[in-house]
Amino acid sequence: MILPGFEYRKATSVADAIALYNDFEGKARYLAGGTDLMPLLKYRLAAPAAIIDLKGIEELKAIAAIDGWLTIGANVTLFELKNHPVVKEYFPLLYQSLDATSCETLQMRATIGGNLLQDTRCIEYNKSLEWRAARGFCLKMGGKCCNVVPHSRVCLSNYCSDNALSLVALSAEADLAEAGGEKTAGLEKIYTGSGSKPFVVEPGTLLTRIRIPLEKSKGVYEKLRVRNSIDYPLAAVAVAMKKSVARVCVGGVGPAPLVYELAGTDEGTLRDAANSASTDARAVPNAILSPAYRKKMVGVLFRRAVQKVLREGA
Ligand SMILES: Cc1cc2nc3c(=O)[nH]c(=O)nc-3n(C[C@H](O)[C@H](O)[C@H](O)COP(=O)(O)OP(=O)(O)OC[C@H]3O[C@@H](n4cnc5c(N)ncnc54)[C@H](O)[C@@H]3O)c2cc1C
Repeated sequence: MILPGFEYRKATSVADAIALYNDFEGKARYLAGGTDLMPLLKYRLAAPAAIIDLKGIEELKAIAAIDGWLTIGANVTLFELKNHPVVKEYFPLLYQSLDATSCETLQMRATIGGNLLQDTRCIEYNKSLEWRAARGFCLKMGGKCCNVVPHSRVCLSNYCSDNALSLVALSAEADLAEAGGEKTAGLEKIYTGSGSKPFVVEPGTLLTRIRIPLEKSKGVYEKLRVRNSIDYPLAAVAVAMKKSVARVCVGGVGPAPLVYELAGTDEGTLRDAANSASTDARAVPNAILSPAYRKKMVGVLFRRAVQKVLREGA
């Protein structure tokens, strides 16, 4: 498929990127690894006047342990992050979700910032323009109804970032830069819950860093996919356990991650929490496995992940 025409600009600093974005009056998109953005352009799901390339911004490529946090620049690749010694030693959960993200070829190109801000997906949406025009535009394309659940008022396309789940479970924060300055938000706060506009961040906001509290934790990542060699999650569960407290994040089923804190890890508490997660999962017929199976698997993966963490000894 051929790319549409666009202006190309290469930013050299965070301030430069935001200024370049504003030059195009909101009709620009940031480019990191491009593994999510380029297919969207080819499918004509995005048609920016300009692409602002972030790869030349050195400050976004650093990983550092500062003041009790592991600070990760948004342009760090998934492969670099996966192989960082602190990730291996402190955050086995993050290591596992990075390792389960697509394949190593993609991990070497894709960045953590792009991974977190990837678009939501739906089998009725990630299609060519001709296919979508024939079917009729849905909520996410500016239409009036959902092509999967016609009575739904909200777009239920799936947010498929593997690493958002482990980072939310690890209580990570996101640093966001705008023309007016920089702010920090808990990662789980950046989601709207609607697939048509999945993130609360304003257009032009730049994700600069992700920060994780630098405390050792146990963790397990469980992912349901058809082809283990490359696929997106069809349901996934991340569990981080610190001092006997388990924080669990569920994703791949609906437009935003779901977060649970387990008050205890006895069989009854675990069964109830897994059942709640299965009920809460907003699975609809917009992926290649049936909604009923994906909902059921949320409960199965939830129990499996927590039990694995417990077996390792928190
Ligand atoms: C075959 C295939 C398989 C995949 N499998 C998986 C999978 O298993 N799990 C998974 O999680 N993902 C998967 N992906 C999705 C995606 O490619 C990756 O998540 C990747 O990490 C995206 O990173 P990127 O740097 O390429 O993002 P890009 O494509 O460059 O950017 C993605 C989005 O984020 C925006 N953006 C990027 N950086 C910033 C920033 N610093 N500030 C503000 N906005 C920014 C861009 O404008 C764009 O909208 C897959 C993709 C493909 C093509």
